[in-house]
Amino acid sequence: MIPEAASSVYAQILDIVASVEPRIAEATRKELADQRASLKLIASENYASLPILLAMGTWLSDKYAEGTVGHRFYAGCANIDTVESVAAEHAEALFGADHAYVQPHSGIDANLVAYWAILAHRIESPALKRLEAATVNDLAEDDWETLRREFNAQKVMGMSLDAGGHLTHGFRHNISGKMFEQHSYGTNPVTGLIDYDALRAAAREFKPLIIVAGYSAYPRRINFRIMREIADEVGATLFVDMAHFAGLVAGKVFTGEENPVPYADVVASTTHKSLRGPRGGFVLATKEYAPAVDKGCPMVLGGPLGHVMAAKAVAFAEARTVAFQEYAVKVAENAKALAEGLLKRGVRLVTGGTDNHLLLLDVSGFALTGRQAESALLESGVVTNRNSIPRDPNGAWYTSGIRIGTPALTTRGFDEADFDQVADLITEVLKNTTPASTPKGPSKAKYVLADGVADRVKARAQELLADSPLYPGLQL
Ligand code: PLP
Repeated sequence: MIPEAASSVYAQILDIVASVEPRIAEATRKELADQRASLKLIASENYASLPILLAMGTWLSDKYAEGTVGHRFYAGCANIDTVESVAAEHAEALFGADHAYVQPHSGIDANLVAYWAILAHRIESPALKRLEAATVNDLAEDDWETLRREFNAQKVMGMSLDAGGHLTHGFRHNISGKMFEQHSYGTNPVTGLIDYDALRAAAREFKPLIIVAGYSAYPRRINFRIMREIADEVGATLFVDMAHFAGLVAGKVFTGEENPVPYADVVASTTHKSLRGPRGGFVLATKEYAPAVDKGCPMVLGGPLGHVMAAKAVAFAEARTVAFQEYAVKVAENAKALAEGLLKRGVRLVTGGTDNHLLLLDVSGFALTGRQAESALLESGVVTNRNSIPRDPNGAWYTSGIRIGTPALTTRGFDEADFDQVADLITEVLKNTTPASTPKGPSKAKYVLADGVADRVKARAQELLADSPLYPGLQL
C-alpha cells in the first residue's frame, strides 16, 4: 500500500531535483509515465516497491566503505556496517545460505567476484600466497609470472549463448571468454532441454575447473542435484548464476533439486529481475568459499554502494514475506497461462512451453526475424526483446526469437486471464507483420505492419493496464 502522503513527497522531491537540473526531473517523471503505459514483457525487468526505491535515495550514498563489515579501509563506517550486515542477514535467511556478500553493483560484477573467488580458492598457488604476504619491497617478478601462468586459461564450462546462457558464462564479448578456456553445453536439438548425459560426457572430456549453471533465456528449470553430481565427478566447482530466477528460489517455487543453494559452491545473482529489488547483485557462498568471496572489493569491485545495499536489505526483507511467495507462485502460473495462450494461437515456443518465468518464442514460423518481431511489437505498445534461439540461423543480431517474461506485469497484478489476452495481442501483431522487401530480397530488419493493427493492439493493451495500475495511489 502506498501512503497518501507519498504523492506530495515525490512531487516535492522532483521539484528539489528540478531546481538544479529540470531535465532530470522531467525524464524521471516521463519514465514513470512510459512504464505505466507499456505492456512490459521484458523477462529481466520488474517494478521495485516504493520502500526499496526510497531506501536508495539517501546520503548512505556519500560514504566510502571499501572492505568488509568491521574491516574497512575507511574510518566512520559504523552505519554502512549496519546496512551491509542487515542485508546479508536477510539474504542468508532468505536463501538458507552459509554466507551472503551483498556488495556487487550488478550481476556481471557478482559473477566476476565469484570467478575470482573460485580461482583464488581452487588454485593452490604458493606464488599467490607469497605475493599476498609480501611487502612492497620484496615483491618478486618471478612470482607474478608464475601467478599469471597458473591463473591463465583455466577451464570453464557454461551454457551456450544460443541455448540461453549469459555472456558472462565464458563468451568472447565478455572478459570471462578472454580469461578462461571455454567449452559450452547446449540443449537437445529435439526437446530443447538441457541434455545432462551429453553435459556429463563433455565435462568428463573437457575437465573444467568451473561448471556454470544458470541462464538468461532458457524457459525451464535446472536439476542442480545432477549438476552437483557432474561437478563432483570431474572435480569442478559448481557455480550457479541465478540472476534470472532468484525470485523463484526466494519465493519457494524452486525447491528441492531445483533450488541451487544447497548444491552449489557459489551462487551469484542480480537483485532486480524476478527478485524485484534495486539494480544490483550479490553472491552466496559455502563456508569454504566465503573468505575468497569477501575479497570482492577491492579485488574486482569499487567501493560498496551503501544506499543500494540499504535497498537490497529492504528487498530481501520483502522477499521473506508470504506475500512475496504468493507473487512468485503467480509469476510461474502466469507464465504457463501465457504459454498456453500462445500455443493455442499457433505460436511456436522453444521447448514447447515454460516452467519458470520466461518464454522464448520462435518467430521464424511467421517468416520474421526476432528483430522485426521486436520492432512491430514495440510499435504496438508491447515491450519485449529479441533473442537467439538454439542453433539460430539468423545469428545473435537479427535472431529468430523473442524472449518474454511475466515478473513485471505480475507485480502490476495481471492474472492468467490477462495473460491470455496478452497472448492474443502478441499473436495479432505477429500474424499481421511481414518482412519489407528490398532489391536483395526480404529485409531482416524492416517490416510492414498491417494498417490499424498497432492502434488496435495499443488500445487493448491500455485497457488491460488500466485495470492493474502501476504504483496505484501515487499521483504523479
Ligand atoms: N547473469 C545473468 C544470467 C543475466 O541474465 C544477467 C543480465 O541480463 C546478468 C548476469 C548481468 O546482470 P547485470 O546487467 O546486472 O550486470
